[in-house]
Amino acid sequence: MIYLIKNAQVYSPEALGRCDILIAGTGIAEIADDISLSGDAVQVIDAGGMLAVPGLVDSLVHFSGGGGEGGFHTRTPDMTLTDASLAGVTTVIGALGTDATTRSHADLLAKAHALDYEGISTYCYSGSYQIPAKTITGDLTRDLLLIDKCIGVGEIAIADHRSSQPDAPQLARLAAQARVGGMLSGKAGIVSIHVGDSETKLDLLHQVVEQSDIPAQQFYPTHMNRNASLLEAGVAWSKLGGRLDFTTSTNAQFIADGEIPAAEAVARCLRAGVNIAQLTMSSDGNASLPVFDEQGELIGLEVGKVASLLHSLQTLVQEYDVPMVKALSCVTSSPADILRLSRKGRLARGKDADILLLDPDTLAVRDVFGRGQRLVENATAVRFGTFEAPEPVR
Ligand code: ZN
Repeated sequence: MIYLIKNAQVYSPEALGRCDILIAGTGIAEIADDISLSGDAVQVIDAGGMLAVPGLVDSLVHFSGGGGEGGFHTRTPDMTLTDASLAGVTTVIGALGTDATTRSHADLLAKAHALDYEGISTYCYSGSYQIPAKTITGDLTRDLLLIDKCIGVGEIAIADHRSSQPDAPQLARLAAQARVGGMLSGKAGIVSIHVGDSETKLDLLHQVVEQSDIPAQQFYPTHMNRNASLLEAGVAWSKLGGRLDFTTSTNAQFIADGEIPAAEAVARCLRAGVNIAQLTMSSDGNASLPVFDEQGELIGLEVGKVASLLHSLQTLVQEYDVPMVKALSCVTSSPADILRLSRKGRLARGKDADILLLDPDTLAVRDVFGRGQRLVENATAVRFGTFEAPEPVR
């Protein structure tokens, strides 16, 4: 099918004004003022009044399930296609997490291929929280070179009681392996860093940058909105050229305990003078979010939602008055650039046809295209994961 989207207000994420977009196969064939094409194979979509934006790039999702820190019954379920597609997320990067024993990279890779087949684009991180990193081929550099979907390593935990308590030389050696693997394979070789709530914050990353040849840009620290003092440490990190990722999945208790909502964290960083290109948001989808009572007893477990990424984009524009171009970059072009996904995160000729049509007032998702396939039409899923009911519960 060839789709011709007419008269959309296009954000690439740069504002291109009113344009038509021609989708042929899996890619964008043209974006221009007025494209005319007819024939049985062409489906014309009137997007007059709608915004057309790139599909969202979610740099951290536990799409094969995560959690488990409260016992086996607290391992979280895996992500379904419509968890992502209905929320406009068309590219997801999967990671293990705390548990690389009952969870495996083989399972993560299998789930990545399944989601790819069903309609969205997927990539994976090698490793997990721990150092030495568990790998697929026995060596991190080999993983990057030999496994197409493997684009980096992570999330490696620091400043957290669940980490392997690594020291700077250990982390530097791991980053060096990822860097060389990335260089040789033309990939990012990024080191995704899970930052916990310990007082040491980003100290370890600073030590690595000071004591080795690894640049700050090799690291991609996430959960940087965990509390105000970590956010402050993030602003200092950004002065070295470091990137900051903010987690959008949250709950009332996390916020009450001092977590800063991701959209607010972006707004605060912009006010502090951080370059927008260094700021991204990710959902941490399918992570476990424990809920404790006043005595500290676990009383419930929530699961992180990929849809929180879209909600935070909406909040960033609607409540924090961040211009659409900048807000969008945090969930499209910037994560794509950091992860070196050259066909993702932008609307332009030759890029993958990952396209969202949004309501201009609410920024709600109306239509979603993933690599040229229509996944969502009029806010209703039209493609489903293999084992999803035709009418999934929203
Ligand atoms: Zn994490």
